[in-house]
Amino acid sequence: MVCAEWDPLKRRERGRRRRPEQDFFCRRCRIQVGTQVFGTEHRNHCPRCLWSRHLDERPGDRRSSCGGGMEPIAIWVRPDGEWALVHRCGTCKVVRVNRVAGDDNEHALMSLAARPIALPPFPVDRLPD
Ligand SMILES: [Zn+2]
Ligand SMILES: [Zn+2]
Repeated sequence: MVCAEWDPLKRRERGRRRRPEQDFFCRRCRIQVGTQVFGTEHRNHCPRCLWSRHLDERPGDRRSSCGGGMEPIAIWVRPDGEWALVHRCGTCKVVRVNRVAGDDNEHALMSLAARPIALPPFPVDRLPD
């Protein structure tokens, strides 16, 4: 059975009229990313590689004309303990903070969080006691 929901033309038509947040394809891993997911209101990054695209001026408005790829560069821990992703646009260099989504890949999140520890800028074994 072919479900009308999956007709790409119909989806685009509907999206243009009243749904600003449509599913999108990650340019890096080529997977379809759903925007309706637990833990975020404005899903804008891929749950697998955590990359995003520069589409918003403010969260969810889709008003930016940049469209550059946004690299996840850090994890920021909010005062309430919630993790947030820091993205930097490869095109215009703007830096944005985005909520971690409920289905983000834990390995990708952990490796991003551990990156400064894994690559210290000084020799750790020669630190004074
Ligand atoms: Zn991806
Ligand atoms: Zn940009």
